[in-house]
This record gives sequence, structure tokens and C-alpha cells, in this order.
Amino acid sequence: MDSLNPAPADPLLGLMLAARADERPGKTDLGVGIYKTEAGDTPVLRAVKEAERRLLETETTKAYEGPHGNPLFCEAIGELTLGGLGDRHTAFTTPGGCGALFIGMQAAKLASPDARLFLSDPSWPNHEGIAAALGIETVFYPYVGDRTGAPDMDLVLKGLEGARAGDILLLQGACHNPTGTDFSAEQWVRLAEEVEKRGLLPFVDTAYQGFARGLEEDGANVKAFLERIPEAILTYSCSKNFGLYRERTGALIIQAPGAKAKDAVATQTAALVRASYSMPPSHGAAIVATILNDAELRRSWEEELGQMRGRLNGLREGFASALVRATNDDSLSRIAEEKGMFSQLPIEAEDTLVLQREKGIYMPGSGRVNIAGLKEDRLGELAADLASYLVR
Ligand code: PMP
Repeated sequence: MDSLNPAPADPLLGLMLAARADERPGKTDLGVGIYKTEAGDTPVLRAVKEAERRLLETETTKAYEGPHGNPLFCEAIGELTLGGLGDRHTAFTTPGGCGALFIGMQAAKLASPDARLFLSDPSWPNHEGIAAALGIETVFYPYVGDRTGAPDMDLVLKGLEGARAGDILLLQGACHNPTGTDFSAEQWVRLAEEVEKRGLLPFVDTAYQGFARGLEEDGANVKAFLERIPEAILTYSCSKNFGLYRERTGALIIQAPGAKAKDAVATQTAALVRASYSMPPSHGAAIVATILNDAELRRSWEEELGQMRGRLNGLREGFASALVRATNDDSLSRIAEEKGMFSQLPIEAEDTLVLQREKGIYMPGSGRVNIAGLKEDRLGELAADLASYLVR
């Protein structure tokens, strides 16, 4: 162990601790990506509480479930994402979206040992972290023209020019982290053509289904994309849309080109699971399966998901207009159009530290802000504090 140096501190976790320790009453924590209410809480959803109550009464065993985890959960996530699992699909319950990313990337590497991972610039930092842990080289493709606006397909395709057959193309399902801006339906069609042309393995990471427009609306482009292409890996997180963060609940679905290839990939992936965490935790998946298989609980969940979405979209509108008013910069109105938990502010990393010190406003150096951390009654004040630091 003497040969080890301490790992660099995780900037987001450090930011979370610093915000927590700040005793100024008006502080604003726009850092770590968790949903919060106006009061700053992250409550357990009503449907989750009720599902837990039912499980407590009905659960009869804690025996192992096996590497695939909970089949009812896998079916239910297959339904939400693909409209149902087919004979080319194999699905696993995983410890969160991260567990799915880790095993999914390992499976991709097994299929194509020299594969590189093509990631949007910017992307969620853990995509690169997981690839690095598995010895997979990452290559970034440009995503938005500057730090703002919708994905620029010409730039994306240019960034993919060097991609070779077998390389992995990571795409985010909806509510892109960190930009809040997603590919359009037409762009997904164009991506499917590119994937076919170059023989790439698409890897679709979905962590915010239901946070942009609605459950079905947010899944439609990915579903159509997967119908167009022979093989793909899909990872899914229930952390945000079910509020199950610490229960570590996610899914990995692999779409093989045919039933025979499906058997090989299913058994190989089960072996990867067995050699790491062996079998997934069951509680979160049992909660989700209970909710999705009960009409009343599902209605309650969808209602609360709709409330979270409504709050985020409302905050976006208020924040965008407050920023436009404070800066006279109309381009910031794009924040109202962006979706999900995050948007990126045009700000220099050193100025985020000044804001932290002087105003108690916490965001990472990239300028990514968690929209759920905004306070509705203080948007004007916040915009005024930010205005002079935003790059125009
Ligand atoms: N993918 C993306 C893009 C995310 O933002 C997250 C959560 N921050 C995840 C995957 C995985 O989340 P978890 O492991 O907590 O389910």
C-alpha cells in the first residue's frame, strides 16, 4: 500500500460538504444532482412508502435472487424503455445506473477488447471514470456548438469520423447531464444511420426518464432508435425518477442482433456480474416492480413524477427570465427550453469559487447547476448575484 498516493478529491462531493458546512442562511446549493423540494428536502415518494409497507407485510424470504436480479423489475423497465423485452434482449437488475454502466462497459469490452468509448463533450464525469477503471480509452466528440444551445449534428458527426467498428458510442436518453439539451427525433435517426455505417456499439444511458416531458415522451426517441439498430446496450437508473438514490436501483438491458447471440451475451454478462457483486441488491427493484405492477401505485408515482417535472420546468422559466432581465442577454432564455435537472451556465471556473466565497452560491467549476437547488422566491436575487460573472 506504500506505493499509493491519495486519490484526488471528488469535486462534487467536496462541494456538497462545503455547502452543508456553510452557515449563511441565504446560501444556494446548486451542486450535487439530487431532486429537492422548495424546502430543500428530498422526500421518499408516496408510492415508494406504500410499496415498502406492502413488501414488509408480504416478503417471505431473503434468499438470493441470482445475477439477473428481479425478473418482474427487469420486465417492467423493459416495458418503460422498449415497450417490452423481446427474444433479442437480456436484462439485469443492477446496483444503480452506475452498476449497469460498469457491467455494460465490461460486456462491451469483452465483445470488442480494443473498443474505445466515444463520449459527448461535456458528459457526466463518471462515464469517463468508469471507462478508466476498466482500461477503456475515451474519445470525446463535440456536442453543442459552444457551451450552450441544442446538439450540433454536424459537429457530432465530425467528432465520430475517427470511430472504428466495435467502438462504443455513449448517448444519453433524455435530460443530458450536464447540458440539459437532447438530440431531436431527426438527430436520433441520423445517429442510427451513423451507427450502422461505422459498425459502432451504441450505449444509451437513461437516468432521468420522465423529467423532461413525460414518461412516454422521454423514452420515444430511444425506443425508435433501438428499433432501427441490431445491437445496443441500455443502462437505466431509478435513482431520480423513483427517488431511490441510496437503494441503488438500476437496470442493464442488452439488445443482441439475434436470439443465439443473446444467449452468449446473457451468460457472459451474468458471469461478469457473478465475478463482481455476484447479485444485485433486491429492495429498490422490488419497490419499483411493486409500483409498476399496481395501477393505483403507478398512478400515484406518475403524479409525483409529474410534480417533480413541473417544478423543474417552472424553475427553469423563472430562472431564465430572471437571468435575461439581469444580464440583457437573450441567449440565456435557452435555460427555459432545456430539460431535466441540469443546465450549464457560461462561467469561468475561478468565478464559481468567488461566488462560493462571497455569496454562498455553490456550483462546480464547469458551471453546471442543479435546477432543483434553486429557490423560487430568490431567483431575482440569485440572477443579480450571477450576472456580472456570466461570460457574454
Ligand atoms: N447516468 C447519468 C447521466 C447520471 O446523471 C447518473 C446519476 N447522477 C447516473 C447515470 C447513475 O446514477 P445512479 O448510479 O445513482 O443510479
